[in-house]
Amino acid sequence: MRKHIKSIFRGLKLISSFPKPILQSSAISAVVRAGIPFINIWFAAQILNELVGGRNQSRLTFLVILTIGLNLLGQVANRALEKWHDYCRANFWQLMSKLISDKMLTMDYIDAENPDIRQKQSDIWGHHNGMGFGLSRLIEAYDGLIQGIIRVGLSVAFAFTLFTTRTPEGSSFAFLDSVWAVIVVLLLLCISMFVAPYFTMLGGRVLANASEENNQGNRVFTFYFWTMIGKSELGKDIRIYNQQDSISRGVESYFKNSKWLALSKIVGRYQFISSFINHTTNGLIYLFVAMKAFAGAFGVGSIVQYVGAITQFANGFNDTLVNLGNMINNNPYAEKIFEFLDIPNEKYQGTLPVEKRDDTDFDIEFKDVSFKYPGSDTYALKNVSFKLEIGQRLAVVGMNGSGKTTMIKLLCRLYDPTEGEITLNGIDIKKYNYDEYMNIFGVVFQDFALLPFTLGQNVAASVDYDGDRAMKVLEDSGFDRRLESMPKGLDTYIYKNFEEDGVEVSGGEAQKIALARALYKNTPFIVLDEPTAALDPIAEYEIYTKFNEIVGEKTAVYISHRLSSCRFCDDIVVFHEGELIQRGSHEGLLADADGKYHELWNAQAQYYAVSA
Ligand code: ADP
Repeated sequence: MRKHIKSIFRGLKLISSFPKPILQSSAISAVVRAGIPFINIWFAAQILNELVGGRNQSRLTFLVILTIGLNLLGQVANRALEKWHDYCRANFWQLMSKLISDKMLTMDYIDAENPDIRQKQSDIWGHHNGMGFGLSRLIEAYDGLIQGIIRVGLSVAFAFTLFTTRTPEGSSFAFLDSVWAVIVVLLLLCISMFVAPYFTMLGGRVLANASEENNQGNRVFTFYFWTMIGKSELGKDIRIYNQQDSISRGVESYFKNSKWLALSKIVGRYQFISSFINHTTNGLIYLFVAMKAFAGAFGVGSIVQYVGAITQFANGFNDTLVNLGNMINNNPYAEKIFEFLDIPNEKYQGTLPVEKRDDTDFDIEFKDVSFKYPGSDTYALKNVSFKLEIGQRLAVVGMNGSGKTTMIKLLCRLYDPTEGEITLNGIDIKKYNYDEYMNIFGVVFQDFALLPFTLGQNVAASVDYDGDRAMKVLEDSGFDRRLESMPKGLDTYIYKNFEEDGVEVSGGEAQKIALARALYKNTPFIVLDEPTAALDPIAEYEIYTKFNEIVGEKTAVYISHRLSSCRFCDDIVVFHEGELIQRGSHEGLLADADGKYHELWNAQAQYYAVSA
């Protein structure tokens, strides 16, 4: 139970950290909503008692006007508070998204890439979007719980005199004043308070347990209605292989086999039992009130007050327990969010500043570096050692999967080596402040990503940028001709996600923009990790040699599985199965007839004899 309470409080604390006062608006609105029925109960009792008692005209008028006035006021306040709460909750989805996205973007890359963690993130959304489990349910239950508690408190105060007011002396109903009568009434109340909500909670639990299955359903649903429609590449394959029918059948059979209908019947049964118990016990308690009034213990008005209070008490108590139950049933889903948010950032955060050097005199060294991806037994890199000096052009070649990209990811500290170390000017790169360290690299990854912002913002990787510089690097990367055809120039949006008049760019054009982005950063090191993979070998060769002129004094690393693209580099390292197995110039490596380079060169040369 302590664990549950801790979870509930942590969830509420998380919600209260959102910028809008969601919990406050919910609480105040719940108090007013719970209080309004008691205005009517109280005044109806007073008016009835006056009607059958003193019949004082002016007091009656006063009571009626006060009832109407307070009711109006209550309703207006209620509407206003509800609107306020709706306003506070309006962008709850966005706030949740920000919470999860911020965590995803700031966690160690090694975790962000981990499929288990990505699955956790997707589960959180599945439960949230599907049935509101997580934080959304918690707010609803919190609202219901406050209403319930207030109603219980007020109804106890309103019903208290039912037990203290006695029947007139000598009445044949005197047994109603006995302790036994009070015990029976309290027993009936207890049944209505505990047994009925228990069954409602059982129904709630059935639903909560089913959210896991619902999540799976939503995944199928999302794939069918979003992924398939959203991804044009999929549409192409589906048509060519005529898969429409098999996909719709798959989706249909999933929904046919779904247990939802059976589950709603079970929930309905629990709700029926709960209401039956509730109504029967309440009926018996009302009988007690009526008999006591009949015996003359109190007037007609008080019957209204007691019956109203008992009804409110039963409902309020029911609400309290049901919402507490809902909170508990929701806890496992809230825990999923906490677990995700609690993933620690374990990457060592260095503090050393990187020396600012106009002569860009930096050298990088891999010292016996080995690396295994998490959960993998095999080394993606094994005992790699090499030095990269200022102004050098280094080509890294090797077959797909030989470890070239992994080496770059280690260089950029997206991962840290499992063994060995990488140094910058002789100091382990872990010791440097990460942002400063990354400021010396411009990298174009194989699977680079552009954002749906303007062309200029993409090139500068920032909202504010130097237009002339952006134009210059776009020209250098060979994007200038395409740029001329863009009516809004640098202000043209890439992709249509943010702006309807955004432009789609081809793979080759996107690569040129990505190259321009790396150039704009104007860093001492430039790394190109097969950013030209979508181009043919000759075009890749041309871009690489052109780039060689553009990078000037910078240190550049070119990666390619196509040996021909990198042969202009005077220094080439060959990777194979995670190991650096050869190093030398194109001619030197080719001369070694038993070497991997020679083998790869000959294997590839036949496909593009022109560029060889
Ligand atoms: P290359 O860039 O030469 O094509 P990579 O560095 O991408 O090669 O891959 C080297 C090895 O590491 C391959 O066996 C690949 O399957 C594995 N690998 C790459 N990325 C991951 C990852 N995120 N998780 C697990 N294994 C990976």
